[in-house]
Amino acid sequence: MKYLSTRGLPPQPEFCDILLGGLAPDGGLYLPERYPQVTRAELDAWRSLSYADLAFAILSKFITDIPPGDLKTICDKTYTAEVYRFARSGDAAADITPVHWLEPGRLALLELSNGPTLAFKDMAMQLLGNLFEYVLERRGQHLNILGATSGDTGSAAEYAMRGKHGVRVFMLSPHGRMSAFQRAQMYSLQDNNIFNIAVTGMFDDAQDIVKAVSNDAAFKAKYAIGAVNSINWARVAAQIVYYFKGYFGATRSNDEQVAFCVPSGNFGNICAGHIARQMGLPIGRLILATNENDVLDEFFRSGVYRPRRAAETHVTSSPSMDISKASNFERFVFDLVGRDPAVVAELWKQVEAGGAFDLRGTPHFARLPEFGFASGRSTHADRLATIRDAWARWGVMIDTHTADGVKVALEHGGGDMPVVVLETAQPAKFAETIREALGREPERPAELDGLETLPQRVEVMAPEAEAIKGFIARHVDA
Ligand SMILES: *Cc1c(COP(=O)(O)O)cnc(C)c1O
Repeated sequence: MKYLSTRGLPPQPEFCDILLGGLAPDGGLYLPERYPQVTRAELDAWRSLSYADLAFAILSKFITDIPPGDLKTICDKTYTAEVYRFARSGDAAADITPVHWLEPGRLALLELSNGPTLAFKDMAMQLLGNLFEYVLERRGQHLNILGATSGDTGSAAEYAMRGKHGVRVFMLSPHGRMSAFQRAQMYSLQDNNIFNIAVTGMFDDAQDIVKAVSNDAAFKAKYAIGAVNSINWARVAAQIVYYFKGYFGATRSNDEQVAFCVPSGNFGNICAGHIARQMGLPIGRLILATNENDVLDEFFRSGVYRPRRAAETHVTSSPSMDISKASNFERFVFDLVGRDPAVVAELWKQVEAGGAFDLRGTPHFARLPEFGFASGRSTHADRLATIRDAWARWGVMIDTHTADGVKVALEHGGGDMPVVVLETAQPAKFAETIREALGREPERPAELDGLETLPQRVEVMAPEAEAIKGFIARHVDA
């Protein structure tokens, strides 16, 4: 399988060539040159596969430059009941992503947050860790991942890369601004390839440092600086798998249709759902849910994509969806405009100049219904009401992001098909809002009791790029 850029760059790399990078050299995002089509016979055969076997079957269609035996080993090692051991429903861990019915046949949760950091980002990041180690070793290379996090992404990256050969992680976080649980998750890691740096500033300061360091081409090359951000194609590819698994879990036959409702920020998760649907999975509807940061809901309702300025971003109680622009959205728009890179390049020229684009009245907007999207938004008050409601009606404690999904799913309904809401995190990560909604502490896996009392390893530093470069250089050269 060859890959292309949404902005039209001609060279056609393969999967391993783009695995370790970010944007394509022309500023676009990578996508496969075509979406592999799944036959009815394949769907029938896949229905009973384990998660690891299903991952292998699907990823084989996108990854043709790793020998099948090796890819199988990587999938087997990634998707084990041991890694995804925080399932709340009995022996469901073996399923990796169990379907939990709230209203049988009508409304379900797809549990995606049973991995080490209790958020769905583990699903893709754990695969990335094993792929990185494999490819780096094969090429005799090493990589120093530099990132900034406000919580979920950084911890998922660290738990995926800990102890991996050839990889170090330097993760910047805003000092004193994450929850005690999130800090403990990251800073308690003692692996000598993981470096936590708490920057005395905000998330944006941390982000600016990452940009400044990455723009220093000489430093970047000398120290093999890389990233694991949400535009990484391998992360999207890994996420396609659970749409299939969730579909099989929620249906009895491949004649049925399902709607998925996806709490969304950067459009990575739901982009994988879009691709699964393009491959032929019977997804009747893709319902996108946002919080108060509703740039995507606005697009699907109006046809206008208007990224916000960073200062316009609302700080909400579903913080992992607090985005001003959706970094993966360009992938969907590429398909929407008939895969014409010239149109995408023109639209993003407007976006990158700080503007917006408006597809109303274009043939592209007229095609939107073919893609099966619906959307809605949720607010803090909705979130609290939905968490209370879920607890009272179904005895289920849901996290704040999942609550945004459930709220929008109930609003839209699936008509005659079941709606499966993607559960993107466990409530333990967002205790403050759970206390506000329910007046009690969130449930947490017993193994993580006392996490906050473990010794922590973190460097507190001023938000200065030169100082951070010095820190990286010292630890890489050592
Ligand atoms: C990252 C994240 C999201 C948003 O996912 P996108 O792929 O950015 O749309 C939603 N919920 C949680 C808990 C997350 O960590």
